[in-house]
Amino acid sequence: MRLAILGGGQLAWMLAQAAEPLGIAVAVLDPSSDCAAGRIADHVVAAYDDPDGLDRVADGADVVTYEFENVPAAAVTRLAERGVPVLPFPASLAVTQDRVREKELLAGLGIAVAPYALIDGPDDFPAALERVGAPGILKTRRLGYDGKGQVRVAAADDLAGAVAGLGGTDLILEGLVAFERELSIVVARGADGAIAAHPPVENEHRDGILACTLAPAPGLDETRRAEAERIGVAVAEALDHIGVLCVELFDTGSGIVANEIAPRVHNSGHWTIEGAVTSQFENHVRAVCGLPLGDPAARGATAMVNIVGSEPPLEDLLAIPAAHLHLYGKAPRDGRKLGHVTVTAAAADALAAPLVRVRALCDAAWRT
Ligand code: AMP
Repeated sequence: MRLAILGGGQLAWMLAQAAEPLGIAVAVLDPSSDCAAGRIADHVVAAYDDPDGLDRVADGADVVTYEFENVPAAAVTRLAERGVPVLPFPASLAVTQDRVREKELLAGLGIAVAPYALIDGPDDFPAALERVGAPGILKTRRLGYDGKGQVRVAAADDLAGAVAGLGGTDLILEGLVAFERELSIVVARGADGAIAAHPPVENEHRDGILACTLAPAPGLDETRRAEAERIGVAVAEALDHIGVLCVELFDTGSGIVANEIAPRVHNSGHWTIEGAVTSQFENHVRAVCGLPLGDPAARGATAMVNIVGSEPPLEDLLAIPAAHLHLYGKAPRDGRKLGHVTVTAAAADALAAPLVRVRALCDAAWRT
């Protein structure tokens, strides 16, 4: 089999790593000549909306998938014209590219979301503030990631400046959720509708970027664990999603509120490479290639720490026996994810000591 991936970054690289032992060849389309996945997969260097590039990456492919949600609609249309299946289906993209459609889907499934209001200009301010109140978070309706395209609005007076700063239209104002911590749920859904849900995890962000994931989420009671899983499964089924998706969640202490959906493998699922029986990457490949899904259960306790901005001393990291290093081969740059470290242990109490050492090294190297 041959799998084409739109995007050749670290997610595509880890998908290609998972595909290889399954006997599945991978080609990626990425405009950058030295993308992470290009190290191990065939690489077509072209823009995502370049018809010739799309034709070349799809040539001989049984299925096309993607590593990012902002795939241009023109790309999907071109691939559809060639008759190559695009999985997850384009509907998953259409909904998750738009925060409003995403929230409507979630709310329609009985899932709690933050209150929100649309803002297309100053005329909308009074109604938005009445509905949502301040403080709130103003977000672009489309094309936001890693906390970009959003700004906190502490008081009503801040709104006009914040709206102008984000382009003036096509924004949403969200009420601030008073959460105790952030969680996420990563779910794979097979072509036959089978579901493989990894345990919910706890995520800590720094500067709007994921810094650390703890898996499974420590101290999550059965009610909230089941609600997190229900959310992941309900979203996957409602979208008729084939492949992996992630729902980012807030744990308010008394319940779970959904924040946003990523229709793809997710940074908060990187721990599954060493920490789950079957990784998110392998299950995504299996799903889009029409193969049975593997067991998503955790093997023990796992933490994932991102390397952002600059590399920590690698020999010091590798001197920690429980640490597993994944470097994406990217040049250091402020705010850029350069790699991650997974720390594994049989149980949570044995994770603490090596995690402290890994975090100290990665936190010191963090640059944004
Ligand atoms: P997002 O781009 O929507 O994933 O938001 C990035 C981060 O901003 C989240 O991980 C939260 O830490 C924070 N955030 C976003 N929306 C809200 C909200 N409605 N209430 C509180 N915090 C939020």
